[in-house]
Amino acid sequence: MWQRLGPLRVKPAAEGCPDTVQLSLPVMDQAAEAKASSSWAQRAALGAMATVMLSGVAMAGPPAAGLIVTTGAAAASPAEAMQLAQRLAPVDPGIVKLLENDGVSFAVVRPGISFLETGVIPTRSLESYQAQLPAMQAQARAAQQAARPFDNGIRTLQQQRAIATQPEQIQSLDQRLGEMQRNKRQAILDVVGPEAIPYSIPSLAGLLRDKDGLHKLVAQQAMPKGTTVMAQLVGAKKPEHIREYTALVEAINGPRLEEARADSLARASQAQRELWLKDPGQIPIDIKGYTILVPDLAYVPDGAGGVARTSLLDASVVGAWANASGKTMAPFANNQGSSINGQYFSATRRILIQSSKVVAKSSQAHAHTPVHELGHAVEDAVQRHDPQFYGRWSARLEAAYRRATSSGTVSDYAASNSAEYVAEGVGHYYEDPNLLKSKDPQLFQLTQQLLERAAHLGQKSKS
Ligand SMILES: [Zn+2]
Repeated sequence: MWQRLGPLRVKPAAEGCPDTVQLSLPVMDQAAEAKASSSWAQRAALGAMATVMLSGVAMAGPPAAGLIVTTGAAAASPAEAMQLAQRLAPVDPGIVKLLENDGVSFAVVRPGISFLETGVIPTRSLESYQAQLPAMQAQARAAQQAARPFDNGIRTLQQQRAIATQPEQIQSLDQRLGEMQRNKRQAILDVVGPEAIPYSIPSLAGLLRDKDGLHKLVAQQAMPKGTTVMAQLVGAKKPEHIREYTALVEAINGPRLEEARADSLARASQAQRELWLKDPGQIPIDIKGYTILVPDLAYVPDGAGGVARTSLLDASVVGAWANASGKTMAPFANNQGSSINGQYFSATRRILIQSSKVVAKSSQAHAHTPVHELGHAVEDAVQRHDPQFYGRWSARLEAAYRRATSSGTVSDYAASNSAEYVAEGVGHYYEDPNLLKSKDPQLFQLTQQLLERAAHLGQKSKS
C-alpha cells in the first residue's frame, strides 16, 4: 500500500498571485458547461462558486469543517481552517461523512514544530522489537535456507569470472552472476516478512534519506561493513543505541553472524584481527556471502533533543519532512527545506498539509495540496469499505494510467505513479473539471465513479 501512496513532491514554484481569485474564477466561468456535463462537476463548480461568494467572509460551519484539526501541535489556525474548508467546499457531503466516520483529518504543519508531535507515524519501543525476536529469528533461518541453493552457484561463477580472459566469456559470466544474484534476492524476499529486512537488499539504502549524512554514508558503503556501521546507517549515534541495535542483529542471526565474522577474521591481518577482537562491531560482514537480516528499525530525532525508534519506511518519511533535529521544515526554504507539500498517512488517516500550501500558488501545475491529499484518502476509504468495487475499478484505473503516461496526463505530477494519478484526478475534478475532461477523459470518468461510490458509502454509513 505504501508504495502507491507516496508523498506529494513538486519542484519549487515561482511566486504567483494570491490564490483565492485564481482558483475560483475560472471554475465559476465553466459552471454552465459543467452543469451540462455532470451532476458531479456541477456540484464541484457550485462549491467553488460558494467559495468565491464567501471568500473574505467568515464562514459559519462549512461542510468539511469537521475534518480539520484545530487543537494540538498540528492544528490549523482559524484562518487556515477557513481556507481549508473553502478548498474542501466542493466535496460531496456523503464523502465528507465517509471520511469523518473513518477518522480522517486534515492537520497543518509549520516549520519548527516537532514532526513526531503531529502523531502521523507510530513510534516503537525497544521491548516491541525484543518481543518480535522469535519471529525474526525464524525469518532469518528461512532466508538463509532460501539463499543457500544460489550461494554455491554464485561462488562457482565468481571463481570462473576471476580467471576468465576472453571479453565474451567475461560478459556472459557477469550476466549469469547478475541473474543469479537477482534470483537469490527474490527467493529471500519471498520468505521474509515485514518485521526484518535482509541487509544486502539495496532498497534498504534507498529507504534512508536523511539530511545529516546518512544518505552519503550509504552511498560510500560498497565494502562489507560491521554491525556498528549498520547501526549508524539507520541513525544510531549514541553508544547505547549502537549496542542495542547490534544486540538485535546478533540475536536475529545467531551462528550465521558469528560465521560471517569468523570468515572476516580468518582473512584479516594480525593487526586488524587484534583491533576487531576488541570491538566485534567493527568486523566486516560479507553480506554477499552471508544472508544477514536486520530489524526494521531506525533511530530518528524526536524534535525534543532525544531519539525515537521507527520503521525504516517511517524514518524516510521523517527524513523528508524534518531536519536533523526532528523539526518540520518549510518546503524549499533556502534550498534546505522539505520537498513535501502534503501527505496522506493511511495508518493514522491523517493528512498533513504544509501551512504554506493551505493556499497554494496559482502557478503550480498540479491540483492544490488539500484536495490532492483528499484524493488519496478517498481512494483508501473506498478500498477498505468496498474492496469488490475497488478491485474492478482499480484494474481499469491501472490500464488508464498506463495509457495516459504515453498520451498525456492532466498534470506532470499525475504521471508519477497510479496513486498520484488518482489524487490528481480527484484534485482536478473539484478544481478544474473541464481541464480534466479535455486532457484525460478516462481519468475524469474513473474519478467520477470513485467519488460517486465514496458518496454512496458515506450516505449509507451511520453518523
Ligand atoms: Zn499525492
